[in-house]
Amino acid sequence: MIPLVLVGAAGRMGHAIEQAVGASTGFAIKARVDRGAPGSGGPGWCADAAQVLAAGDVAVDFSAPAVTAALAALCAGRGAALVSGTTGLDAKEEEAVRAAAQKVPVVRAANFSLGIAALRRALEAALGALPSAWDIEIVERHHRGKADSPSGTALLLAARAASSRGADESALRFGRGRGRTGPRPEGEIGVHALRGGTWVGDHLALIAGPGEWLELRHVAQDRSAFAFGALAAARFVSRARPGFYGLDDVLAGGES
Ligand code: NAD
Repeated sequence: MIPLVLVGAAGRMGHAIEQAVGASTGFAIKARVDRGAPGSGGPGWCADAAQVLAAGDVAVDFSAPAVTAALAALCAGRGAALVSGTTGLDAKEEEAVRAAAQKVPVVRAANFSLGIAALRRALEAALGALPSAWDIEIVERHHRGKADSPSGTALLLAARAASSRGADESALRFGRGRGRTGPRPEGEIGVHALRGGTWVGDHLALIAGPGEWLELRHVAQDRSAFAFGALAAARFVSRARPGFYGLDDVLAGGES
């Protein structure tokens, strides 16, 4: 059994992981870590991963950026593997995760769904087949409680689109504001975030040319879409050598 320490266990994704573990074999939830949510004082719950994390555990993190950075260092110190899906990390926090990956295996993905992995590839294939003058817009929708904007997945799709065009992140335009914004500059990649209700995650890549356009869209209908991918990643890191991995490595299934 692979011992899991769920970090952010009382949250939306924490619940989804818990359900996915119940529907899978080979995993045991060793501890649930969260700060003071109802039920988090019960057996098996604690407020700090430092109280429980040990060598051979797999920490599964869907929490908050500051938690992720500290957790990565803790995993490296204790010899525990890390699967992290928390989004909205700043450069320093991302660096803390990469530093940990020198000592322990880490899978980090802004989106653990199989469908988004396929959308990423479809987007690159579509861009490769179309003239570079076609316009790219990424539009995402999420529930009203989402803490970061745009989504990590939208940023990832936009970054992939930019690199397919030989551009960098300076090509990204976040929203278009109000007023005389002028004609759309060639090469710009628009990124737009909608928030409301209970949308779990909806990403649209729109590629528009003269007289026609193409839309590639992924809708996550419930969080099991991410939870099963995160468990596949947990299985992968439990056997992997130290290193920084993405969902593509997990899907390729190769022992590292
Ligand atoms: P949520 O707010 O429902 O849950 C986060 C949990 O983390 C909460 O229970 C909160 O109490 C806990 N937490 C926050 N700070 C803490 C601290 N200092 N110590 C202990 N616990 C702490 O959020 P969610 O919808 O479950 O999403 C969590 C994160 O995962 C977000 O960054 C979200 O964008 C990301 N996410 C990633 C994927 C993916 O596939 N990679 C999918 C969905 C969500």
